[in-house]
Amino acid sequence: MRPQEFLPLFQSVETLAGVGARMRALLAKALELPHGAGGSGGAGANSPRVIDLLWHLPSGLIDRRARPRVREARPGQLATLAVRVIEHRPPPSRHSKAPYRVLCADDSGEIALIFFRGDRRYLERALPVGAERLVSGRIERYRGRLQMPHPDHIAPREDEARFPFLEPVYPLTAGLGAKALQKAIAGALERVPQMPEWQDAAWLEARGWPGFNEALLRLHRPETPADVSNTGPAWQRLAYDELLANQLALAIVRRSTRAMAGRPIVGDGRLRARIADALPFKLTASQRQALAEIAADMAAPRRMLRLLQGDVGSGKTIVALMAMAIAVEAGAQAALMAPTEVLARQHLETIGPLAEAAGLKVTLLTGREKGRARRQILTLLADGHLDMIIGTHALFQPDVVFADLALAVIDEQHRFGVHQRLALQSKGGGRSARAGGNVQGARDPHPSQKGASGDERQSTRAHAGDERSGQSTDERTVRGADVLVMTATPIPRTLLMTHYGDLDVSRLTEKPAGRKPVTTRAVANDRIEEVILALKRAIEGEGAQAYWVCPLVEGSDKSPLAAAEERHGHLKKYFGSRVGLIHGQMASTAKDEAMARFQKGEIVILVATTVIEVGVDVPNASIIVIEHAERFGLAQLHQLRGRVGRGRRASSCILLYQPPLGETARARLETMRATEDGFVIAEEDLRLRGGGELMGTRQSGLPEFRIARIPNLEELLMAARDDARLILARDPELKSERGAALRRLLYLFECDEAVRLFRTG
Ligand code: ADP
Ligand code: MG
Repeated sequence: MRPQEFLPLFQSVETLAGVGARMRALLAKALELPHGAGGSGGAGANSPRVIDLLWHLPSGLIDRRARPRVREARPGQLATLAVRVIEHRPPPSRHSKAPYRVLCADDSGEIALIFFRGDRRYLERALPVGAERLVSGRIERYRGRLQMPHPDHIAPREDEARFPFLEPVYPLTAGLGAKALQKAIAGALERVPQMPEWQDAAWLEARGWPGFNEALLRLHRPETPADVSNTGPAWQRLAYDELLANQLALAIVRRSTRAMAGRPIVGDGRLRARIADALPFKLTASQRQALAEIAADMAAPRRMLRLLQGDVGSGKTIVALMAMAIAVEAGAQAALMAPTEVLARQHLETIGPLAEAAGLKVTLLTGREKGRARRQILTLLADGHLDMIIGTHALFQPDVVFADLALAVIDEQHRFGVHQRLALQSKGGGRSARAGGNVQGARDPHPSQKGASGDERQSTRAHAGDERSGQSTDERTVRGADVLVMTATPIPRTLLMTHYGDLDVSRLTEKPAGRKPVTTRAVANDRIEEVILALKRAIEGEGAQAYWVCPLVEGSDKSPLAAAEERHGHLKKYFGSRVGLIHGQMASTAKDEAMARFQKGEIVILVATTVIEVGVDVPNASIIVIEHAERFGLAQLHQLRGRVGRGRRASSCILLYQPPLGETARARLETMRATEDGFVIAEEDLRLRGGGELMGTRQSGLPEFRIARIPNLEELLMAARDDARLILARDPELKSERGAALRRLLYLFECDEAVRLFRTG
């Protein structure tokens, strides 16, 4: 349970005075809650809570510290004046367009405060004649006289100590006034209880950081510009709090995953040797290296949790197959899960013949296997007659039972869902802990699903995970087995750290032998006919095949499908029936058929929406045209380009763009032209997205930090990681005084799931 005194922080913003449904909706927009925060994962999705307001930090400051005497005030200047109210001059008649004027003065001169459509009653109350007031706003000169139209702030002289000379500016949204937001945040601040110190005293002192409560106040009620800078002590302190919570939660989850039933899986190499013999090529050095790492992990008594990162086409599938063979050599089974049916099939096509050559029994299980066929597969699987199974999420249905699953390979391609799977497993641990107090789920073939939905909301940000699809059945299959996750996403190290802590990573750094470089060109859209004619020459003259990718159409009424269909029709004029079309809304049989015809060469141009980005492999396809390339992110362009350069032909990638190009789009296309190295592209991608968003990783689907959007993220992250390790080494159950405070930190940053894991120990 979350500490009682935190509850007011986790209530809806509507519980704050002055916040109603309308304001809540505006706040939901303005706060841009990252996925997984703010009550996602349920009906109340995206409904901001009080705490979300606290984490909504200023993006800047309005400096009202200039305090000239009236005579010294300069037009254009933002100034705060101390004046006496002399006289009210309402407009001559109610219908007059003339403004309401309030004449004020200090001993140096006069200035008029100007209010268009000013409300007399309000103004007489706010500015009674004879009263001393502080007024702050922009100075103007009109017909030779000084005036201040609509002061931003009016306050009695005696309230000077509370006057917002430095006014925080928050990211707003249309319709949401700055004052209303400030008021809501002030209300939120009042609900913050005095927190115990969870940070190490010496570390705080070395850094010159304030306590938590003070840091929060300084950020929202700044007294110097440094108070709202993301390199200033207040922001840094809170960022570190967030990072420590993240790293501590990861370490806790990791520890419990590690402690879960694991067993040594050691093979004798006999099947791997047979597969190697059947391969038409030799494994690259980095494939061999990755395999050695995997084999060592599997042989260890603890569970493997390893990420296999390798650029598109680096040959992850073979590595996966070899790892699966280890499981079978050891007398157990292995499963490979792909994100889509097309991919699962493709894996079977690659793996099937090799597995058969080695005498392995492998089959496919997707949503399409139904009825008797499906039952038959399940029986074979449960009896242990199947060595390997390849499939989609269908593999994780509750009635899929393995005789003895030792290795689960999860192919995420570039879907960035890696962390989700991992989050899921640890969620599984937490869940069965609640249900039965048994983390060793491997021993518990049917963990109760009780409580799986009830407090989902609290746990959505546990260890920064964001699993919304709720495929909670994965855990049963996967738990206890070694897990190898494959991804083509070249995630930079910093981001990996924030999502896995110290996850084990193997990288395939070289492309398989025989890969040809891909020549990339950017071509303006008005030359599209030239491109088509060049395509025609390559196809008819040289027997090449091509992909033609139609864009994501954001903020347009045209759907990607419509765009693809239109282009399909257009290309038919040149290539007749040899143009195919594939898109996400097609039935999977139709998709497979289109792919098969492309593979056989009956189709020479495959027009596609981005569905093809997920790992299809047609070596003869050597050209890819990407329409409206300026609309794609770098990572996606890179993935798409990876479809070609897979065969013997020299390959090319044509990036069709719509001029004029924005600066970032231009830089993206230039990067694509300049390099094929996925890691370089990933780093560049992060750089181009810039500071805040860099860590936001919004497009990547990785969860975001609320506060730790700071230039020195890496440095603090490393410190937090070491800190977390040290904390757990000294106080494994967080039982000391600091430990108790740290539990609060975990709750505050919604890492509740991690805390829950203690109860199982
Ligand atoms: P990834 O999944 O990493 O994108 P794949 O495993 O699909 O890549 O491999 C892409 C292609 O490269 C496949 O056709 C595969 O047979 C081939 N391949 C894999 N390893 C090698 C190698 N060591 N030498 C040559 N070709 C290889
Ligand atoms: Mg692949």
